[in-house]
Amino acid sequence: MSLADIIGTISFTVFLRITISQLRIKKNMEHKKSRKNKLPNYVSMLRVKSFCAFAVLLFTLYSADAQSLKVGLVPIGKVDEHHINIVKAGIENFYRAEVSCLLSTPMADSLLSTYSDPKRVSSISVINAKAVNLALAVQIYRKYDMVVGLTDSALTIGKRLMSERILIRGLAADTLKTATISTFKLKHESVTEEIFIENLTKVARHEIAHVLGLRHCYSSDRCLMLNGMKFKNTIPEFCSACLEKIDNRLLR
Ligand SMILES: [Zn+2]
Ligand SMILES: [Zn+2]
Repeated sequence: MSLADIIGTISFTVFLRITISQLRIKKNMEHKKSRKNKLPNYVSMLRVKSFCAFAVLLFTLYSADAQSLKVGLVPIGKVDEHHINIVKAGIENFYRAEVSCLLSTPMADSLLSTYSDPKRVSSISVINAKAVNLALAVQIYRKYDMVVGLTDSALTIGKRLMSERILIRGLAADTLKTATISTFKLKHESVTEEIFIENLTKVARHEIAHVLGLRHCYSSDRCLMLNGMKFKNTIPEFCSACLEKIDNRLLR
């Protein structure tokens, strides 16, 4: 049972208690009016007021507890709408989150560059993840708890790495509250559409967990938070050790 469920149950119990008290007091008042005894009425009203204050406090706590994570999702460059929907669903089905699809920004788009691999016929579109995370930070304003960039271009953390063909699936910047996800590497790694959807979902959930402060997991060999080298063993859920580290109010 989550904290939200416990608070909800207590609030409901208090509400019932107040209703019963009010009915009793109404009955007493009618009875005591006839006896012209005002002091017990005053004490009873004080009890009702205390109960109401307590109920309001619990309701406030319950509302705060049920608040969802506000995530802004920004497509960078031309992004397949199907990919946007996979990421949105992957986040919302797992985290207590509300994902808003934002417009791509010229600042982030300007970071896209073309890389011509001498061994390839065509050039590919590539983007630096660290630069994107920095550019996305200006879109947080006060509206979002984090902003996540999504690109279909190749993602690197430096031009040198691109020349060595080291591509990454995603990168989070927890201090900036931003993360960038790329479908490029996943498309080449996923044999079927089903596997691609699962892989993209795992990357989106993994990067968000980084933004929330979680680090790579070394407690289990099957967990959402395994490092990129162990991606094949990554599952779309947290292991029990990681579950203890994350605020469970943020999870569905
Ligand atoms: Zn990671
Ligand atoms: Zn773990």
